[in-house]
Amino acid sequence: MEARAPQALIRIYTHPACLSHDTGPGHAERAERLVAVLEALRAAFPQLQPEVAPRASRGQLLRVHAPRLLDEVLESRPSTRIALDPDTVLSPDSAEAALRAAGAAVAAVDAVLGGEAMRAFCAVRPPGHHATADTAMGFCLFNNVAVAAAHALAKHGLARVAIADFDVHHGNGTQAIFEHDPRALFLSSHQWPLYPGTGSAEERGVGNIHNAPLPAGAGSAPFRAAWRERLLPELERFRPQLVFVSAGFDGHRRDPLAALQLVADDYAWLTGELVAIARRHAQDRIVSMLEGGYDLEALRECSVAHVGALMATG
Ligand SMILES: [Zn+2]
Repeated sequence: MEARAPQALIRIYTHPACLSHDTGPGHAERAERLVAVLEALRAAFPQLQPEVAPRASRGQLLRVHAPRLLDEVLESRPSTRIALDPDTVLSPDSAEAALRAAGAAVAAVDAVLGGEAMRAFCAVRPPGHHATADTAMGFCLFNNVAVAAAHALAKHGLARVAIADFDVHHGNGTQAIFEHDPRALFLSSHQWPLYPGTGSAEERGVGNIHNAPLPAGAGSAPFRAAWRERLLPELERFRPQLVFVSAGFDGHRRDPLAALQLVADDYAWLTGELVAIARRHAQDRIVSMLEGGYDLEALRECSVAHVGALMATG
């Protein structure tokens, strides 16, 4: 009888191609972000050897995206950088990066639901939560977390998945993709008003969308209250079988793109709360995706706080 490898507490997924998506000089969403995250994780958790992310397949992407977005991102293969919108850039190597970022998410789902790992963190770029079914926007090409959630529903037959999005921007793409699907719960705290403009508390989908907008300047206390009093009780009630995280760290007080006043410990706290709910309902299973975060020092500190909390056992 073949001995089964012991289940890993956490797997990290990444791919070198994610560093080759070239958004151009002066762009906030730059390769140095991912370098900072990977270096910080390597220094803090030297025992973790990142896994090489596979490419997402066309069929996996088509569960949430329109063929025209796949054509735009994968077929145009520009010889130089082109702007899809004022924020969102396609470079010669962007298609490969986008395939690996979404593929990391899918592989993480397979590993966690296959019992190979309890939890996973995908250190990838481009980020995903602004991409809608048919439009790349807000630095995002494919919606990595949505591709992963759809994979968990379609391939693994789960009935309830939840996505907790604490990026400082509203995850408009994720919300739009799932707002008619009661099998997916979407929870978001975000600064508001702010890009992309969606995310009011009145947007409820089919009762599966819960938004907690926070005013500019809000810090740890209102952020934690929003999750403790409004969002986490919905997650508890939903009894998710798998918890996804859109982990953006641009709510940190150092971030140049937004004006919340969070600190790394806020991300550790919330991650710990999500781990506790996953333990009660989801057999400990969490898949977290890197989204935004544009101050390199904050990114280092917050990604270590987040992954450290994901490794908690008991
Ligand atoms: Zn963001």
